[in-house]
Amino acid sequence: MKKLPFLLMALQDLEATEEDVKREDYRSIFPVPHQAIEREKERLRDEIRKMGGERVLERYERLKQQYGKSIVLTVGGICFHCFAVLPTSLEASQQEGLLECPNCGIFLYQTDEEEA
Ligand SMILES: [Zn+2]
Repeated sequence: MKKLPFLLMALQDLEATEEDVKREDYRSIFPVPHQAIEREKERLRDEIRKMGGERVLERYERLKQQYGKSIVLTVGGICFHCFAVLPTSLEASQQEGLLECPNCGIFLYQTDEEEA
């Protein structure tokens, strides 16, 4: 996986973990490292800013509010959020290894197999 999609996935995963922790009482079993989570989120945001700029982060937040997530897998040329077939020219237009679905606008990531 390319670096920028990986960073966005990692941030999305951390935020989902935070939501899980709020819903369920994990604290009765293990102490939740809230500070470590916050530090890692800030570090990821800094790295995303360096690689993709403020625009990528703003878009990430907007998509999260709109859809509840910001980046999904694409398999076989299909967006796995809205299931639209993606144009084959999409790959050529990507910046920083970041694909966007032209139908729903969500960020897309590919497995290494799909990239090959
Ligand atoms: Zn889509």
